[in-house]
Amino acid sequence: MTRLVIKNIGHLVTMNAERSELSGVDMAVENGVVAEIGKDLTGPQTVNAQGCVVTPGLVNTHHHLFQTLTRAVPGGQDALLFGWLQTLYPIWARMGPEEMFTSAQVGLAELALSGCTLSSDHQYIFPNGSSLDDAIEAARSIGVRFHAARGSMSIGESDGGLPPDHLVEREADILNDCIRVADRYHDAEEGAMLRIVMAPCSPFSVSTGLMKDSAALARDKGVMLHTHLAENDEDIAYSQEKFGCRPGQYAQDMGWTGTDVWHAHCVRLDAQEIDLFARTGTGVAHCPCSNCRLGSGIAPVRQMRDAGVRVGLGVDGSASNDAGHLLDEARQAMLLQRVQNGADAMAAREALEIATLGGAQVLGRADCGSLEVGKRADFAIWDMSGLAAAGNWDPVAALVLTGPHNVRDLYVEGRAVVQGGQMVNVDLREVITRQNRLAARLAG
Ligand SMILES: [Zn+2]
Repeated sequence: MTRLVIKNIGHLVTMNAERSELSGVDMAVENGVVAEIGKDLTGPQTVNAQGCVVTPGLVNTHHHLFQTLTRAVPGGQDALLFGWLQTLYPIWARMGPEEMFTSAQVGLAELALSGCTLSSDHQYIFPNGSSLDDAIEAARSIGVRFHAARGSMSIGESDGGLPPDHLVEREADILNDCIRVADRYHDAEEGAMLRIVMAPCSPFSVSTGLMKDSAALARDKGVMLHTHLAENDEDIAYSQEKFGCRPGQYAQDMGWTGTDVWHAHCVRLDAQEIDLFARTGTGVAHCPCSNCRLGSGIAPVRQMRDAGVRVGLGVDGSASNDAGHLLDEARQAMLLQRVQNGADAMAAREALEIATLGGAQVLGRADCGSLEVGKRADFAIWDMSGLAAAGNWDPVAALVLTGPHNVRDLYVEGRAVVQGGQMVNVDLREVITRQNRLAARLAG
């Protein structure tokens, strides 16, 4: 048995049912789970967390890790969603396994340093021999919990779709690879470090047949479903024109609602669609910085939460953010709701709840998202003694309102991923050098 005790925690944010915050307590971790929370706990291994806020690990519910290789690409800097995609598709088409792996390492390291212990990733292109396995390897190398969504595109330009023909796959090949990765990697058990998700890229890049087949396959394999939905006005117009209905109706018709489904963005959901999501338990990955970056609008998160919709945060791909800092997303989510609904529309603590517990709920992880006895030992230790939070009167609110920018320590399944602000399992300098070399090669 391994036992680790986090001592003298300044403020422990539990995210339990009562949303308890405890001061001056210790937390013991044994075999990957929280074993005890209390005073004067002892163990062979201790970590001092005096002056620190300890939170459940943040959960990232939407990302495209391969895109960290195409940040701040000039042609895509100021474009709307569809134009932005058309600028980037030809660049992504030149990537291969090494690019996928390295890009994912960079994205996951950035997430880990910003407090993330569990991330999903939505990979929907597989050029030049790359596969979902590349990002899975990267997640293992970093040490974070990972939900790998096997994305897909099957409608190319010649069939009226958006992506170029050479980036789309045959639907039979897509479904076969979905079966391969689900059988090989999916772990349904409590405490799973790796799960698989079925995830056609969006209604505008696959057929209705593939949407339905993916849903049937996901339910057969017991995995979750994920896609992009109702991201902006162009997206709504496409749905109306192509399918004769709004995205919510389309999702329902395709079998894409339920507690095993979550959709990215949902910026343009109307009241009826919010009601549909609440009734069916369908989740939402809210990506505030990406929505700002692409001018998509402000997602009705206040209305969703009030209606009982499960909402988590996503950084989205680094090509549409361009950062991948999850704590920043919590701040941005709070600010955007205030822009739309007033200064009392979302408190810092609610933003933190969406970033932790909310994300875990969206990803179907009842074992993560809170720090309680029996839950997985995924947590972030934030040192509040630095410049950013100096002078604060409320360290828990300050975490969202001021920072610090990065965690001091991060633990996943009771194992250190970040210690003293440094990545434990990878040489970050080497990763960055490799990433920049690959980006330069892509730029030609
Ligand atoms: Zn996305």
